Amino acid sequence: MQESKPWMVLNQNAESQSQQLAKAIAEAEAIVVGVGAGMSAATGFTYVGPRFKNAFPDFIEKYNFYDMLQAFLADFEDAQEYWAFQSRFSLLNYFDQPQGQAYVDLKEILADKNYHVITTNADNAFYAADFDMDKVFRIQGEYGLWQCSAMCHQETYQDEDLIRKMVAQQENMRIPAELVPHCPHCGAVFEINKRDAQKGMVEDKDWHDQNDRYQVFLKENAGKKILYLEIGVGMTTPQFIRHPFQKWTAENPNALYITMNQKPYRIASDIQDQSLRLTDDIAQCLHAIV
Ligand SMILES: [Zn+2]
Repeated sequence: MQESKPWMVLNQNAESQSQQLAKAIAEAEAIVVGVGAGMSAATGFTYVGPRFKNAFPDFIEKYNFYDMLQAFLADFEDAQEYWAFQSRFSLLNYFDQPQGQAYVDLKEILADKNYHVITTNADNAFYAADFDMDKVFRIQGEYGLWQCSAMCHQETYQDEDLIRKMVAQQENMRIPAELVPHCPHCGAVFEINKRDAQKGMVEDKDWHDQNDRYQVFLKENAGKKILYLEIGVGMTTPQFIRHPFQKWTAENPNALYITMNQKPYRIASDIQDQSLRLTDDIAQCLHAIV
């Protein structure tokens, strides 16, 4: 274990949460940023309210969906209806997703730092903010990619033109049958690249390369004065960011764990002295640092 100076941020009173975060980032020798859905919601990409209701009034009326995640994961009548929904969803949350200011601010904050990102978000926000994508591990896949629904092979596909055709040509929540995309190997219908609790997820070569780069970063910086910064991570998949971040903090006396979340998720008792909980609005907090 290397000798590191203690975290000044834990011993000095900072005036605001953004100042605390800025201090911790300035002090860190390495930063692992874990980004969840709360980050995208904070910068305007919400899954509830007008953004959802304006895009899917017909689906909401038919299925009483309460938010876009529930709708995204729903079982539809058949592939024509599935792709009527998913094509619109893909444009909104991937191909036509605008730049989010919070992501731009985060990129700027990390610009000259030794950092790596892991995200459970599958939207286009890191691309739109022009992040170095070699430093962003998209562990839960991407809305712009497709996988064989039978998962017969570990490759992903993308066809933005076909997505746009599906949106333009759909009627009564159905795309024309001839537009439904199929696996070239087994003929099963394609679906969006995503992890299913039972089936798992197609993890292609690029996914494994991303994972390798993440593991290398963790290994190279083990034992250092490392900041685990968790931003907007919810309840759905704590096994990818929150649980490992807290475990690795407990294993490294030089590590600091910061969670940015308005919900008071549990912080393990053994890292209470190595953690900070920031409850301010994520987008405002990041922007204040910039
Ligand atoms: Zn297949």
